[in-house]
Amino acid sequence: MDLNAVLGGMLGLAAGDALGVPVEFMSRASLEKNPVTDMRAFGTHDQPAGTWSDDTSMALCLMDSLTHGLNYEDMVERFLRWAETGYMTAHGEVFDMGLATRSALVQYAHGKPALSCGGAGEYSNGNGSLMRILPMAFYLHEVIGPDFPEKAEAYEAIHRASMVTHAHPVSQMACGLYCSIANALLCGGCVQDGIELARAFYRTQPVFSPYLESKFKRVDTSVLLSLPREAVNSSGYVVDTLEAALWCVVRFCGYRDCLLEAVNLGNDTDTVGAAAGGLAGLRSGLAGIPGEWLSVLAKREEIEELCGKFYRSLCGTRR
Ligand SMILES: [Mg+2]
Repeated sequence: MDLNAVLGGMLGLAAGDALGVPVEFMSRASLEKNPVTDMRAFGTHDQPAGTWSDDTSMALCLMDSLTHGLNYEDMVERFLRWAETGYMTAHGEVFDMGLATRSALVQYAHGKPALSCGGAGEYSNGNGSLMRILPMAFYLHEVIGPDFPEKAEAYEAIHRASMVTHAHPVSQMACGLYCSIANALLCGGCVQDGIELARAFYRTQPVFSPYLESKFKRVDTSVLLSLPREAVNSSGYVVDTLEAALWCVVRFCGYRDCLLEAVNLGNDTDTVGAAAGGLAGLRSGLAGIPGEWLSVLAKREEIEELCGKFYRSLCGTRR
């Protein structure tokens, strides 16, 4: 893995998030009349252009935690620091937080162990763990190896990184699929390579296998390519977000086209943008992300420094 993939992935995620922030919750119909074509200022959260949200903050918290190894308590400590003090925010304040994340952090603050804090109900499947999970793919690719999507211990780590806020099997699987796809792209393969490896693993797991059919049937490149735009739901439900992001990533090779499609789907624009942007950015590398988007991106240099620190911490960790 080279540093450029980490930079492309993390800045791609942040830029996709920032592209979606001003139009979060806008409908597809209203975006059709006034589509996003560039970084905008103000809008939904009244922020300057290039401001990213909780998606990027939590991904940066996770990445920085992994710089010191795999420690779930440390991950949640950092999420709590973000929520309480504005650590890893674009401009020092938290302006968006998901309900499941808030509830998990309250429980953690009251002394519950990190791995018991996430909601496990069917209705606790928002996209809050999917949006931040990308650094786990980089970490496992280096520490376990590029074949990590064939190893149960890798899924266990990904699932736990989800469980601290989102513990339902569907949220865990969305994270597992996403990391396997990211790894396939890191290896120079395609989205479907990653989907197939994750499916092969989940088929062997009785807790997860029923959901392959009932929830993740459309997470397949040929199915996604056959879906018309009207059939793609870009909501905050984790399965919808994963499908919407992948629908864009398999259709568009270039970062810019992929991300404009992602945010113009409407609704949970910042998180669909973040999820698509992480994959499209690691595929294209930093050079694929429009320079005018990067130039307004909040804390770009700090994100680059954090990526460098993370990358250096991983060198030589392969077991
Ligand atoms: Mg957000």
